[in-house]
Formats: sequence, C-alpha cells, structure tokens
Amino acid sequence: MKEILEKLGIKEVNHGAYCGEWLHTTGEEVDVYSPIDDSILAKVKTATAADYDIVAKKAIEAFKIWRNFPAPKRGEIIRLIGLELRKYKDELGRLVTMEMGKIYTEGLGEVQEMIDMADLAVGMSRQLYGATIQSERPEHRMFEQYHPLGVIGIISSFNFPVAVWAWNAFVAGVCGDTMIWKPSTSTPLTAIAVTNIVHKVLEELGVPKAIFNLVIGRGNEIGEKLINDKNIHLVSATGSCQMGKRVHQAAAKHYGRVILELGGNNAIIVMEDANIELALKAVLFGAVGTAGQRCTSTRRVLIHEDVFDDFAQKLEKAYGSVPIGNPLDEGVLMGPLVNQSAVGAYKNALEKIEEQGGEIIYGGEVLTEDVPGNCYVLPTIAIARNDMQIVQEETFAPILYLIKIKNINQAIELHNDVPQGLSSAIFTNNLQYAEQFLSDRGSDCGIANVNIGTSGAEIGGAFGGEKETGGGREAGSDAWKAYMRRQTNTINWGKTIPLAQGVEFDID
Ligand code: NAD
Repeated sequence: MKEILEKLGIKEVNHGAYCGEWLHTTGEEVDVYSPIDDSILAKVKTATAADYDIVAKKAIEAFKIWRNFPAPKRGEIIRLIGLELRKYKDELGRLVTMEMGKIYTEGLGEVQEMIDMADLAVGMSRQLYGATIQSERPEHRMFEQYHPLGVIGIISSFNFPVAVWAWNAFVAGVCGDTMIWKPSTSTPLTAIAVTNIVHKVLEELGVPKAIFNLVIGRGNEIGEKLINDKNIHLVSATGSCQMGKRVHQAAAKHYGRVILELGGNNAIIVMEDANIELALKAVLFGAVGTAGQRCTSTRRVLIHEDVFDDFAQKLEKAYGSVPIGNPLDEGVLMGPLVNQSAVGAYKNALEKIEEQGGEIIYGGEVLTEDVPGNCYVLPTIAIARNDMQIVQEETFAPILYLIKIKNINQAIELHNDVPQGLSSAIFTNNLQYAEQFLSDRGSDCGIANVNIGTSGAEIGGAFGGEKETGGGREAGSDAWKAYMRRQTNTINWGKTIPLAQGVEFDID
C-alpha cells in the first residue's frame, strides 16, 4: 500500500489546495480512513477560505489564457492527460478501492471511465458546432457559436471519487473553461493523486497549470464558499438531493448556472414474459454491485404477480452466494460501505422497513465476523409497498424492495411514483410493453432501458435524471453545451437595414 501511495504522490500529511502548485493549507487536519479495515491511509490539511480565494483568483487568470487555445489544441492536452492516466491505471484503481471500498475490478473500471472520457473529449474538441440559421432578412447571415464559459465548480460525491471529475473536467477543459474541484472529504486522496498526474502533464507541456484546480474541505465550509462565489459561472454538483437543493439556492442568488446530478430511486420492472435469468443478473449487479452505493443502483423491483414468488426465491438464492469481504481480494463481489455513518443509515432503514409494514426476506445484518473491518453488511431484500416512506427515499446501501404489480399500467404508475427520476429499466420480450415504457406515457427518468439493468451507464450518452435528481446532463451526446456560452450572431452584408417582423422605422 505504501508503494502505491508513494507512486501517486500521496504523503503522510497532504495539502488540500492546488492552483498550479500545492498551497500550504492550514485548515482542519482530517484523517482519511479505508473502509476496508478502518486503517488511516493518510491525512489532509484542508483548505481555508483564504486558500479558496487564492485558488479562485488563479483559476480566473488561467481562464483568460486557456480560452485563447484553439479547442483542438485543448483536446490534444486532454489526450495527453488520458495517456498519463493509462500509466497509473492500476495504482489509481487500487487507491479508489482502498479509499472508497468498491471492489478492485470496479476501481479499475472507474479509472477506465476517466480514460474513455478523455478520448471522448478529444473528439468533442473538434465538434463544438453551432448551427446556421436562415435569416428572414435579405443579405443577412445568422449563425450561432459556442464560447468558453469561465470558471467551473465541480463538486463530487464519494462513490465515484474520480470518474465524476473526469465527466466534467475533460468536457469543460476542451470547452475552454478552467475549474475548481471540491471532492468529498471521504475520498480526497484519489483527488490529490489525479491532480498530481495532471500537474505532471501540464508542467511538461508548459501550459498554465491552474486549469485544473483543487480545494479539499467540508461541504458546509469550502463547499459553501464555492457555491456562493459569483465568479463561478457553472457549478456541476454530484451528490445527495439535499446538497443539490442547497447548491441550486446559492447559485440562484447570483444567477449562476448549475448541473445537478443527485440521488436516484431506480427501479426495474419485470413483466410476466421476461427472460428471468437475464433479469436476475441485472437486478443482482444493480442492487449489490458497489454495495448499493451507485446513484444508478437498483432500489426497487416491480415484479408481475405471475412470476413474483419464483423471482423472489431465485434472487434470495443468488444473494446467498455473493462473496463479501476485502474488495481487493479476487472473487469478492461486495466490499464494505464507505463509513460508519453509511452503516448507521443502513440500520436505520432496516428498522423503518419493519415499522412501515415491509418484510425482510434476506439479509438485514451488519457483519462482525470473517470481515476485516466494521463497515460490512449483508445485502438485503425486503417485500414492500411503493408508498412506504422508506421506499420513497434513497438509502445509499444495498437494500432492495420487491413490489408486486398486476399489469404494465400499474407498473409504470408505481415506477414513476417516487420523487427521484434517474435510471429505469423493463425486462420484457413484449414489444408493446417495451415501447409503452419508453413512450411519453412511460418511464419519467433520464435513463430508460429495455432488457438491461439500471446501473452501469456508458459515457457516450448524456447522463442524468429528472425531478429531484436535478435535471442535469453530463458526459456524452450534446452535454458539452452546458459548459459553453452560446451566442447568436447576425451579419448584414447588404446596403440597407431591414428590420425583422416587417417593422418600418425610416425617417423621410
Ligand atoms: P453528499 O451530498 O453527502 O456529498 C456530495 C458532495 O457535496 C461532497 O463533496 C460534499 O462535501 C459536498 N457538499 C455537501 N454539502 C455541501 C454544501 N452545502 N455546499 C457545497 N457542497 C456540499 O453525497 P455523497 O454521500 O458523497 O454521495 C452519495 C449521493 O450522491 C447519493 O445521493 C447518490 O445518488 C448521489 N450521486 C448522484 C450521481 C448522479 O449522477 N446523479 C452520481 C453519483 C452519486
């Protein structure tokens, strides 16, 4: 472990602010724990408000230089960062696992997602197109173009400690923005490691290093400073609905733009004609993968009454064979929850399930034996009703609710009857069910799938959700537009000034 930390430039005590160089921060010193065995990995001296101000000033200065780079040249720099990430894939993947607790193959997958995002952004850098528009006036040309927006704030959650940054940073980077990253205080080491990698590339190239900046500190201190800063043109915030509401309110005060990527309450509908084996696999990965700590984790399964009992039995059996343990060990499929507070939320939900009339049919236990730490739990299945308060909430833990449905209309009604709207899926071979689910009367989520689960989105599409999930979109498709300033232009190449809508305004 020591070797990995050293290779990634992580010291025993680290500074928590970067703006082309590491600042000597003097804020609160936080211990960074590994949920694997509760050991301390390293310490971080967090950024103070004064440190934040220095970082913000540098980011603004760097923007004035960075925006002048042609977009494909910016893309070339992101390409080189992607190449450097490839060299550190194994170490960074391990650090993700050690700091956050997801299994090693998922840690590696997360770094691969960063690399893929870099590649996607390189392509995007030559495709930041605007439209040409037919003018109603003679000898006029109309078009739109996209300019760099400014300094972007990136607030990331613990569960994708580096991928969330890459979704935003590489796109914002090719768009000509500079940025300030505020990671979760549960996972600051991966952020420091990534910043060290980026620093190395930018230093070798001799370009301004304050493009990709970092401040580490608590949400209610340094996070608040960032979201209330009127010099931040866009805050892209990933985390709980509660945090997103706060970001939205703060940004509204200075008309700031936001991208909100918040909580989900994702469901899979299993119809009577579904391929049950496929559905079981998708539900198992969706609910148990990452120990239920993905925004797209499957939280509810709406199962047709004809196949309910059979499905529940098979799922229980599958849950019984999930290897739980040290996420660095080969073969383990479920590691720990991120910390004790997450274990507390899991226990609290178990109590509520029983109080509100649900029935736990598998799991419901914190593990104390044969695991290396105190954050391991059994994945849990409960039979529940959709209107139970606990089912309406997102508990960030591997708890899955099975809900019986009678037909497709009822399934879709219950599916949409939650406050969140991120990811959704239906398992069916019936074309009408599938099309109804994808239609304007179907799923109200940002992501809707047929015969694949809710979890594990590809970066090529725009990612995000509706309702309390916040409405933001990140990664592929045209999500880049949110990171740029759109301008509509009209050029008159004639010798008269005709007005639009036929308005006459001539002096005789
Ligand atoms: P969290 O809301 O506790 O923290 C997320 C980030 O917000 C952290 O960096 C935190 O420090 C910061 N923060 C908290 N209060 C703040 C404030 N007042 N001002 C500014 N920043 C503040 O979330 P978490 O526990 O780290 O992550 C889990 C949550 O994230 C879940 O709800 C999950 O669904 C959601 N999530 C959503 C997506 C998505 O794309 N929709 C992706 C990943 C995670």
